[in-house]
Amino acid sequence: MGHLALHLVLFSGWLHADANLVEADSAKIAQRLDHKLVVPAGESDPATFIPLSVFQGSRPGPNLVIVAGVHGYEFAPILALQQLAARIDPESLIGKLTLVKLAHVSAFEARSPYMNPYDRKNLNRAFPGKSDGTQSERIAWVLSKQVINEADFVIDVHSGDGGEWLDAFVGVYGGELATDYTKALEVAHALNFPNIVRYSMDTQEQVDRGRSLNRQAVAAGAPTLLVEIGENGESNSEDVAAIVAGLQNVVMALGMTSAANVPAEGFTPRYFEGTVSVPVPHDGIWAPYEKRGRFVDKGDPLGVITDYQGKLLERVVAPIGGYALYGLAGPPVRAGESVMTIARPVRDLK
Ligand SMILES: [Zn+2]
Repeated sequence: MGHLALHLVLFSGWLHADANLVEADSAKIAQRLDHKLVVPAGESDPATFIPLSVFQGSRPGPNLVIVAGVHGYEFAPILALQQLAARIDPESLIGKLTLVKLAHVSAFEARSPYMNPYDRKNLNRAFPGKSDGTQSERIAWVLSKQVINEADFVIDVHSGDGGEWLDAFVGVYGGELATDYTKALEVAHALNFPNIVRYSMDTQEQVDRGRSLNRQAVAAGAPTLLVEIGENGESNSEDVAAIVAGLQNVVMALGMTSAANVPAEGFTPRYFEGTVSVPVPHDGIWAPYEKRGRFVDKGDPLGVITDYQGKLLERVVAPIGGYALYGLAGPPVRAGESVMTIARPVRDLK
């Protein structure tokens, strides 16, 4: 009991609010720890690191993990986590907030959209990774083992990458294999974004194939959200501010702060059940007719692809009706790439 007694003296300021002395005893002093996870060198490429800030609150609670920079050219989320870190006060925090401020340092430094500059792999298809793989696989391995698998709730923040337009949305992971979808949907609303898309994880194959960080969270049993805002790798201050405000609301929605809850914005987002991509069979020059979120009907013209001599290769049309959520801004397009992602509208997501 000596250990507990010491805590009672040190933390008498807040212990009165905590009925569970056993829990209180396991609490650490409220603090912020900035550190780096080391990703050791591999056979074919160098070592790298992952900068984190871990905020240990003054009372026990959930471990919320927020990740930016899985794609190193998606700058708005990276800048947003720098701002968010400066606004978190560990003293008023309940639980633990882990900010992975830049998951993919080598892609950021190389200004490399989508891919790792060494192995040319997409980190967001490399989970859970391998300890002895290429750099993307080793980064995924360290993140999986040391961060994602320890989380109680995971939010991965992205943007439209270089050459992508995008309408801001939150992806919420549901389906038979997801944990606590109800809570995930509630927290998705707290972000106050205009669109919410449900991704249903009903088979192990969906969780495993080209596993993203969100799907790693599903595999680890943590409710999880994808946040997407901004386009073309821009770092527009409005997008950065919307991420910071949304994530502060998330901290409140999870009951991780004693601060008063901010009233909801009072609007209903558009709801969608999954998405359909529009892959094309040509390399060439892609000219979309519009680069913004909007409803389209099946058969609506989306744009044209020409070859490098200017000859028309294809008039691309919408394969289904729905909401044009994000797409390739062009002009480059490669065979097999999707030029647009169309979300399927639904009345609600309950
Ligand atoms: Zn991304």
